[in-house]
Amino acid sequence: MDTTGKVIKCKAAVAWEPNKPLVIEEIEVAPPQANEVRIKIVATAVCHTDLYHLYEGMPKDGFPVVLGHEAAGIVESVGSGVTEFKNGDKVIPVFLSQCRECHFCKSPKTNQCVKAWTEVIMDIMCPIDSRFSCKGKKILQFSGLGTFTEYTVVRQINLAKIHPDAPLDKVCLIGCGICTGYGSAVNTAKVEEGSTCAVFGLGAVGLAAVMGCKAAGAKRIIAVDTNPEKFEKAKIFGATDFVNPKDHSKPIHEVLVEMTNGGVDFSLECVGNASVMESALHSTVKAWGVSVIVGYTLVQSFTARPVDLISGRTWKGALFGGFKAKDGVMEMVKRYMEKKLMVDEFITHNMDLCQIMEAVELMKKAKCVRAVLKTSPQ
Ligand code: NAD
Ligand code: ZN
Repeated sequence: MDTTGKVIKCKAAVAWEPNKPLVIEEIEVAPPQANEVRIKIVATAVCHTDLYHLYEGMPKDGFPVVLGHEAAGIVESVGSGVTEFKNGDKVIPVFLSQCRECHFCKSPKTNQCVKAWTEVIMDIMCPIDSRFSCKGKKILQFSGLGTFTEYTVVRQINLAKIHPDAPLDKVCLIGCGICTGYGSAVNTAKVEEGSTCAVFGLGAVGLAAVMGCKAAGAKRIIAVDTNPEKFEKAKIFGATDFVNPKDHSKPIHEVLVEMTNGGVDFSLECVGNASVMESALHSTVKAWGVSVIVGYTLVQSFTARPVDLISGRTWKGALFGGFKAKDGVMEMVKRYMEKKLMVDEFITHNMDLCQIMEAVELMKKAKCVRAVLKTSPQ
């Protein structure tokens, strides 16, 4: 049945309120407007940022919402003015936009885009406008996407076309976690050959950071996690040393400084905890250490003394691993198709959209790396 121009009724996981389970509901998805694309989501994975919104950030105007921002699908229909996509194209949506026209997009120094929702509305983590409704109420689209659904509508500047043979139930992870972690090591930290690195937090983001450190030629990669079950995976991606902060009575940065005779060259915080961000900074060598904030939080703050930086350290952060949204996704999918990038290794669970709460609970307990939820057959 041709659904072009019509409202589509489909299943989606709705977060009606913060700190409450998601509910599978029938939602209405409006047709795409100008410069928008409606996508049939085939597979979507749970990233910690979805949990952050539901359980930690809990912005009062950020609900009801369809969470989810790591996904892959097929174009169902396009709005007027869309030239880059046509029905049937395989695509990955990205929470960051790339309009290719603004001064940020034109600069090689950043992956920010002035048309990104993050430019205007960081605190509720959703644009105010949405194409979703349920029971007569507007339902927000998390990070401008909202992928825990069978169909969604996104702006064409938030969408990357990918290889027609790409397996969507795998490459969906390239839409957030893998680009974020890998790029944070390669693009943001600019990890150097022969260097020593530390990665805090071994979810998909941290493991991808380990993979990025290894690809950049790091000789020693120290993997830090409070859940030692994650160490086996970290080894597959290239970690050489493993530290569980719970095994030590002294602050973890002191342990790392001792292990490395003065501190690591590069550290990456992939947890989303401000005190871990401080530890990651203090783990780096004071003369030239670079520490990258990857973990996300709007509700915590950190402190540092000027002297922590004045001796020569650099403290920085990045969204989406510093990759330009469309270009980064296309490049990383290409590398995966050429067998130059690990992706399948991140997937610990395969489920259906209706099992979303199981996936959320697993991630809450750090019992999974990525759970991929299939929404419909490919
Ligand atoms: P995850 O929940 O799968 O992984 C987090 C890991 O951190 C877990 O293995 C957990 O055991 C570990 N951990 C918890 N407390 C710790 C501590 N004190 N010390 C060491 N390890 C600890 O999460 P994820 O999906 O990999 O995401 C990681 C972070 O990256 C989140 O904060 C997420 O919001 C953020 N993120 C940022 C961006 C970005 O663009 N910057 C994009 C995606 C995700
Ligand atoms: Zn994410």
